[in-house]
Order: sequence, then structure tokens, then C-alpha cells
Amino acid sequence: MSKPKVNQELCIGCGTCEALCPEMFKVENGKSQVIGENCEKAGCDCNEAVTSCPVSAISME
Ligand code: SF4
Repeated sequence: MSKPKVNQELCIGCGTCEALCPEMFKVENGKSQVIGENCEKAGCDCNEAVTSCPVSAISME
């Protein structure tokens, strides 16, 4: 199972991750929160979010 993690210091709240994986990310108060349990359950490709984040704030754990 894989799960993304958002570095709150780096995130600028652009919403790209939420647009790609709405089951996994939610932007609230200008920061992205991880809301899903894991990528397999959410059925999205979080690696795309990892590589698309403009400030490289997302990592996989
Ligand atoms: S793509 Fe990166 S900067 Fe944009 S909301 Fe998601 S974590 Fe934050």
C-alpha cells in the first residue's frame, strides 16, 4: 500500500494534486491535506501528483 505525504511548509495550495487525485487530496486553507487511506483504495495515480506538484511538496511513504 502506498500513501502520499504533503510537506505543509512547501505546499502553496495550487490544487493540482486535488485535481489529479480528488479522493486523496483536499486543499483547505491554502494547504493540501491527505484525506484518503491509500492510493490503491482511492484508485488514482498519486505518482502523477508527485511529479506534477510545482514545489515538489508531495512524497510517497
Ligand atoms: S500540487 Fe503541491 S503545491 Fe499544489 S496543492 Fe498539491 S501539494 Fe500543494
